[in-house]
Amino acid sequence: MTATEPMKIAIAGVGKIARDQHIPSIAKSPAFDLAATVSRHASVEGVDHFETMETFLAARPDVSTVALCVPPQVRFEMARAALEAGRHVLLEKPPGATVAEVHTLAGLATERGLTLFATWHSRFAPAVAPAKAWLADKNIRRVEIIWKEDVRRWHPGQEWIWQAGGVGIFDPGINALSILTEIMPQPVHLTGAELEFPQNRDTPIAARLSFAGAGGVAVTADFDWRQTGPQSWDITVETDGGTLYLGAGGATMAIDGKEIRQGPEAEYDGIYARFAELLRAGSSEVDVSPLIHVADAFMLGKRIVTDPFIE
Ligand code: NAP
Repeated sequence: MTATEPMKIAIAGVGKIARDQHIPSIAKSPAFDLAATVSRHASVEGVDHFETMETFLAARPDVSTVALCVPPQVRFEMARAALEAGRHVLLEKPPGATVAEVHTLAGLATERGLTLFATWHSRFAPAVAPAKAWLADKNIRRVEIIWKEDVRRWHPGQEWIWQAGGVGIFDPGINALSILTEIMPQPVHLTGAELEFPQNRDTPIAARLSFAGAGGVAVTADFDWRQTGPQSWDITVETDGGTLYLGAGGATMAIDGKEIRQGPEAEYDGIYARFAELLRAGSSEVDVSPLIHVADAFMLGKRIVTDPFIE
């Protein structure tokens, strides 16, 4: 790839996030050129289209890079096929339906000398890097995460989120965990969880988590998909040097109640800029720590059966 020659990229899974974010960010990026789509039912006007990964890989060896925007349950087979065909791969979050499959993909990418980028879009929210920098020399006492949204508003008609492997409320909740694992100077581990499963679904609609870490730090997370009215994507961090508040999913930040202005939201532009850097450097970025917390919640969590969810 040279400065004047963008890298050809394909998007697999032309759904909500591909249309809302990936396609516009690729269109803006000087590093990439959308050369193909792989999707069973959807396509993008003017872009070469394939219904399966296999037909795409066979027909377009010139497209060196693939962004996977399909649900987590079907991502592994596509990612493996793309890597085995010598393509670099970008994974939407969560990077897999299990932790082990992501390790397998990372190993394959290393073996083949390819770039694998497991993205966490919330880490590119404008206040996350400043929050990490501010917290770096603080002693953290307590973290409170409130992540409550209306599933009917954000996931209309998406059956896969309710099917095993779709992770339910952890689909948004893992965004909070991706911020937590990014900004905390020391790791924390899960110590308890309660998961509420609608009696007619495979995945939870709500989760309450607690974590512990070095120096007696206590973290709580309250995730709920039944929030109508105002939506909450808030993280409050109490430290020996003041209280940090991240709002709107990492878009806003305040310290001791005083807002610190941030630049505009451009999470996916940041993702594609980072992907271009990784490709240029010939390296991968695969951090499974948010996914491990979710897996631990399913391991340690107490299961509570709640009212059926009818969309
Ligand atoms: P979506 O609207 O359901 O789109 C996913 C697309 O994947 C579908 O349109 C479908 O296109 C394709 N697909 C292939 N196999 C599928 C299967 N077995 N079941 C369902 N779809 C299948 O989902 P999305 O909201 O874009 O989310 C995709 C990924 O991006 C998820 O991991 C999600 O966590 C992540 N994400 C979503 C958002 C958001 O705001 N929605 C934000 C950030 C990240 P075809 O039918 O044409 O094959």
